[in-house]
Amino acid sequence: MTAPNVLNADLHCHSTASDGTLSPAELVRRAHGAGVELLALTDHDEVSGIAEARAEAERLGLPFVAGVEISVSWLDQTLHVVGLGIDPENPALLEGLRQVREGRDGRAALIAAELERIGIRGALEGALRYAGNPSLISRAHFARYLVEVGVARNVHDVFNNYLARGKPGYVEHVWATLEDALGWIHGAGGIAVLAHPGRYRISNSEMDRLFERFRELGGAGVEVACGAHDAGQVLAFARLARKFGLLASRASDYHGPEDCVIELGKAPLLPPDLTPVWTRLMPVSVC
Ligand code: AMP
Ligand code: MN
Ligand code: MN
Ligand code: MN
Repeated sequence: MTAPNVLNADLHCHSTASDGTLSPAELVRRAHGAGVELLALTDHDEVSGIAEARAEAERLGLPFVAGVEISVSWLDQTLHVVGLGIDPENPALLEGLRQVREGRDGRAALIAAELERIGIRGALEGALRYAGNPSLISRAHFARYLVEVGVARNVHDVFNNYLARGKPGYVEHVWATLEDALGWIHGAGGIAVLAHPGRYRISNSEMDRLFERFRELGGAGVEVACGAHDAGQVLAFARLARKFGLLASRASDYHGPEDCVIELGKAPLLPPDLTPVWTRLMPVSVC
């Protein structure tokens, strides 16, 4: 039997239900082919891909966890909180996610207006052509359109030059509160995991404050080994997981084969002394 920390778990990825480029079933088939042993689908603010993903995972015998990645505003930052093991039909969760998605529509119109001001036309329609789910428009869809019209060579350059904070196509937006996001996840029977903390531009003391608040609100874990973290960050967030008594997660944050981050199931392994989040998710016989 596989020891818990070397299980090839991938607990964060995206399908066309949000800003991934593979359908939920294609994503599950690819994860299975890549040797993933436990998969969670975690679309942004959306659970509509879960049923299809779960059905395909059952067909292939791949252990599957229903998930979501909720967009949150905390201090002046946007954070992402992953909910795992949620009931995707929970009414309060569905209503909360609906409200967060609704905010995306207004933001998308403002992003398009900002881009128009610098001479990039048709961005809303262009981004929507890349959106597999028209009610979930993400900056990733805008990024693909900006590459298409040739203002940047790749999505990475788009974020460096246009869609990130401080750049001309960035629009401030207020997402869910941390309290609401954790409340919806817990109300739907799930556990909350702080996503890719290495991506947040906050000081060490603010990071400590965030971990403390997350823990106070019943947050269970943190992504330690993930596509966004280099080796030093894996060690740094392993230390914070120990300090705050959080479980550790492993996550590719895969968005599709065009994406040049990491393949499904290829995040580094977790440091052996940490307790993986999947000990809270798996049937005992599997881990
Ligand atoms: P949104 O939730 O609409 O603000 O979009 C966030 C999404 O944009 C992330 O989930 C990624 O898919 C993508 N993204 C954000 N920053 C970057 C970046 N620096 N490089 C590539 N993709 C990014
Ligand atoms: Mn995304
Ligand atoms: Mn994220
Ligand atoms: Mn993600």
